[in-house]
Amino acid sequence: MPIREETLRSLYGEMVEWRRYLHRHPELSFQEFKTSSWIAEKLEAWGLEVTRGVAGTGIVARLRGGRPGRTIALRADIDALPIQDEKTCEYASTVPGVMHACGHDGHTAELLAVARYYSLHREETAGTRVFLFQPAEEVLPGGAVGMIAAGALEGVDAVYGVHLWSPFPYGVVATRPGPLMASPDEFEAEILGRGGHGGLPHQSADAIVAGAHLVVALQTIVSRNVDPLESAVVSVGRLSAGGARNVIADRCQVEGTVRTFTPEARALVRQRLEEVARHIGAMHGTEARMTYFEGYPPVVNDAAEVERFFKVASELLEPGEARRCDPIMAGEDFSYYLRERPGCFFFVGAGREDGTSAPHHHPRFDIDERAMLTAARLLVGIADDSAEDTRR
Ligand code: MN
Repeated sequence: MPIREETLRSLYGEMVEWRRYLHRHPELSFQEFKTSSWIAEKLEAWGLEVTRGVAGTGIVARLRGGRPGRTIALRADIDALPIQDEKTCEYASTVPGVMHACGHDGHTAELLAVARYYSLHREETAGTRVFLFQPAEEVLPGGAVGMIAAGALEGVDAVYGVHLWSPFPYGVVATRPGPLMASPDEFEAEILGRGGHGGLPHQSADAIVAGAHLVVALQTIVSRNVDPLESAVVSVGRLSAGGARNVIADRCQVEGTVRTFTPEARALVRQRLEEVARHIGAMHGTEARMTYFEGYPPVVNDAAEVERFFKVASELLEPGEARRCDPIMAGEDFSYYLRERPGCFFFVGAGREDGTSAPHHHPRFDIDERAMLTAARLLVGIADDSAEDTRR
């Protein structure tokens, strides 16, 4: 059926209301208890088949259309972050130290609007829609793994997801085929030396000197080991050692993040981190133990589904609004769904035109709420197109 734009537009006021309610009442990953029942109550009231408590606080809701077609899943994440909201607007967070600083409140509101839309147009709808309200996108191992293990993708033919994105201005939507977002891994090197008197260094093994050398040596992994045509990041974000000016430290911790797109680059960086740490440790008469924490896989879009995205976007949006973007080194656990089913993840610009919007995970992060309507229109357009696609 053609998209009923007027229905979606008429839901915009509620979308804003819902998003602001969620923004005032954020909940941390895997603790989205109130958020989850609030969502489920609405979906049940609209007549969807709702399963609560999926992967803890997740929800899977199904709606069978009146016409034949494929089963299409749409996903929103529902968790907030441990950040103190510094905004002073009327919808600022009322929970100390917790804030929707990544736009997941908007994702939830726009997917609710899409669910409401289909409940109003059930008879005309081709195929089945599955709405995934996923907990805990922000902390490893992520909520997607549990949702999939609980059978959220059973019978699903394709899956789509969106991220409201403040680095892109409102009016721009973007994605790309293949790798879109990186694997966000983490590491921690613990250097064990032998402490001692700061004036008698020859009687100790200085963990700080070894740690400093390690930070510098790690810079060569991307510059000297990774293929120059690949993208990778090794960033040290935390360095901790020592207790007094005149004492040689017996231990030093070097912690950081690794971003890669391919399994090859990921394995190479991990191997080099371990080798470099071990040898730098030995060189200084210390012992360095590297612990590596695997994050989400990279988000890799299906090429045919990206074509569908651009086709639908060209029908629904103004010329030039849909763009192909470069890969982004942030991570997303939507990657797990895309490993199981064909689909597409895309960005909907929610920032200011002049680029002054606070970045994601910032205490003053906010979105241009109109972007939620754009996201909802695209989700409906893509889901309908995909549900009636007989080629796939
Ligand atoms: Mn996010």
